[in-house]
Amino acid sequence: MPSSKTCSKCKAEKAREKFGKHKLMADGLRSVCMECNREYNRKYRAANQQRTVNYGRAWRVSHPEKELKYRRRYRAGNLEKILAKNANRRARVRKLASATTPEERDAVREIYATAALVSQFMDGQPFHVDHRQPIARGGSSLADNLQHLPASMNLAKHDLSHEEALERVPGYREWTDGPPTFHQVTWRTFHKWKGSINATVELHI
Ligand SMILES: [Zn+2]
Repeated sequence: MPSSKTCSKCKAEKAREKFGKHKLMADGLRSVCMECNREYNRKYRAANQQRTVNYGRAWRVSHPEKELKYRRRYRAGNLEKILAKNANRRARVRKLASATTPEERDAVREIYATAALVSQFMDGQPFHVDHRQPIARGGSSLADNLQHLPASMNLAKHDLSHEEALERVPGYREWTDGPPTFHQVTWRTFHKWKGSINATVELHI
C-alpha cells in the first residue's frame, strides 16, 4: 500500500493520514483529502444553514435514546478533553472576573443581554454572541472581541478566525462592518428583517 495518495479535489499528493477512512474504497480511504472535505462541509453548512441546524435538531428529538447513547459514549471517550475544557472555561471566567474593571464586565453583559433581548423578537433567526477571534485561537472574552451574529451565520463561521470568515462566510463582511452596539444591531435588524421591525424598535436597554 503506497504511503501517500493524490486528492481528487485539490490534486495534491498527501500522506494517507490526511485522508478520512472509507470502507467501500479499494484503498480504504476517501478520494478527497480531509482539508478539502472540511472545506466542502463548511460550504454546505453555509449554503444550508437552517437546514443543517434543523436536521440535527430534528434527529436528536426523534432519536432520544440514540442521542443519549452518543452523548454518553462521547463523554466516556473524551472525559479528559471535556474536563480540560471545563477547567479551561472556569479559568477564563475567573481571569475575566479578576482582570477586568466593572465597566468592562458591564460591557460584556450588555452584549449578551442585547443578543438575548433582540432574539426574543426574531422568530427563527436569533442572535448569538460570537467571539470575533475564537478563544481557542487567542481571542479574548472582552467586549472588543464580541459581536452579534445571526445564529445561522455563527454556525457557518464555526471555528474560523475573523479574517477567514470575511473571505468564506456569505454576508459576514457586510454584517461585521462596525463595532457591536445595541443601535447597530437594531439598525441592521431593520434592514435584514424588515418584517420584525415594529417589535425591535420598541426595545430599550
Ligand atoms: Zn484535497
